[in-house]
Amino acid sequence: MADSKKPRLESNPEVKYTKIWIDNEWRDSVSKKTFPTINPCTGDKICDVAEGDKADVDIAVESAKKAFALGSEWRKMDASARGHLMNKLADLIERDSEYLAQLETLDNGKPLKVARSADLPLTIKCYRYYAGYTDKIHGKTIPVDGDYFTYTRHEPVGIVGAIIPWNFPLLMQAWKLGPALCAGNVVVLKPAEQTPLTALYMGALMKEAGFPPGVVNIIPGYGPTAGAAISEHMDVDKVAFTGSTEIGHIVMQAAGKSNLKNVTLELGGKSPNIVFADADLDNAVEMSHFALFFNQGQCCCAGSRCFVEDSVYDEFVRKSVERSKQRTVGDPLDPDVEQGPQIDKEQFDKIMTLIEAGKSEGAKLECGGKQVGEKGFFVEPTVFSDVQDEMRIAKEEIFGPVQQIMRFKTIDEVISRANATSYGLAAAVYTRDINKAIAVAHSVRAGTVWVNCYDVFAAQAPFGGYKQSGSGRELGEYGLEQYSEIKTVTIKIDEKNS
Ligand code: ADP
Repeated sequence: MADSKKPRLESNPEVKYTKIWIDNEWRDSVSKKTFPTINPCTGDKICDVAEGDKADVDIAVESAKKAFALGSEWRKMDASARGHLMNKLADLIERDSEYLAQLETLDNGKPLKVARSADLPLTIKCYRYYAGYTDKIHGKTIPVDGDYFTYTRHEPVGIVGAIIPWNFPLLMQAWKLGPALCAGNVVVLKPAEQTPLTALYMGALMKEAGFPPGVVNIIPGYGPTAGAAISEHMDVDKVAFTGSTEIGHIVMQAAGKSNLKNVTLELGGKSPNIVFADADLDNAVEMSHFALFFNQGQCCCAGSRCFVEDSVYDEFVRKSVERSKQRTVGDPLDPDVEQGPQIDKEQFDKIMTLIEAGKSEGAKLECGGKQVGEKGFFVEPTVFSDVQDEMRIAKEEIFGPVQQIMRFKTIDEVISRANATSYGLAAAVYTRDINKAIAVAHSVRAGTVWVNCYDVFAAQAPFGGYKQSGSGRELGEYGLEQYSEIKTVTIKIDEKNS
């Protein structure tokens, strides 16, 4: 662990907003209840936050309805003006990006240098990408048979319920709000209970940017209460959810039992990371390390099944263990630190249970496996070799800094093993042979395949899962489609004048 006595370069940022954001105003929850948000470095409370529930969601939906009413300021606004507001929002995030990065680190535990270099820039780029798209959402004219003029309009879906996770709080908010606002929707958003603080700050920035009241409402609270109230709501037209596959099932059922709202899901994964013997081995080791350990291993697309070709397996394991032993764990405000704490005690305990399962099922623990320090939720970078496909650590999403390395002999074998999972979010392949790269890229059933790289994200490129990793895509033009309804308008042409 990095020396905890080393002076911290930053002090904790002041928390400015802890209430519910509805109609561009702060308010207590109807129940007056609050819940604590915890600093994962220490396990201590940062502050209490208003706890939203069904009654608050109902008020937020009413506010969103008003904002979306025909003739409202938002509905009448020119598409280009909507883009201007979104660009203004991106400017304000840029202005406050150092504060937001520190607040994200305080609430989430991710290294400040990662918040500064990844979360904030990607968030800003996402808003800017969709800001530029508002007046480029085109319908078509369609040559139907007969004397008719037919065209399509891409209209907003209406009230979007957005339920987001804790691993990338600002970025996941941007992935939902960016396309939703671009297409002219209104939103009721619930941040994860572990990380409400940056989401709430964004409410204030939206008002400052000039978004009308009710266009974005933010309800901090728990999943089975506030989250369920959104996904079960009869007047919410769409729910966009990112989180676990387990809760994805519940959200889809809630939509089915209520009003058949449109549902997009971005869920869990157990993504294969395939290293062929002809790869640049040092690059493959570094990328595979990054694929797994980035963000404390808390990525839905983590490369958590690392398959390595037999002839380079031992060397790959040796180098991966060396790299993991060098990984610096500690105070996320320390600029030398690569890995902060896990998000909470529940995740920490789950990771420890799975490490024990790996040991007892016969995988070889090469390094790590223990808690770091005594306070907070820090876990040693952990590497298992000799992992077999049927072991729990090879099948279950660990969501922690635990790498599983498996051995393979042929390309057909590895493709079949890579696909032997209920997940299908991402995959990676490392090779110098373009034919092998394409064979794997086209055979693996996953929404994203990276070749000789990992976790390359861009606002322009879609992301999402096959199978139980989700439905629908986020980002890019494909992501925007999920936030629009297509309307066909057919006009009878008056024959006398044609
Ligand atoms: P994790 O296990 O990583 O915390 P979850 O899927 O539990 O992921 O949480 C992701 C988001 O879903 C959070 O905002 C959480 O509050 C919310 N959530 C949890 N349970 C439900 C539920 N029953 N209905 C709707 N949202 C929920």
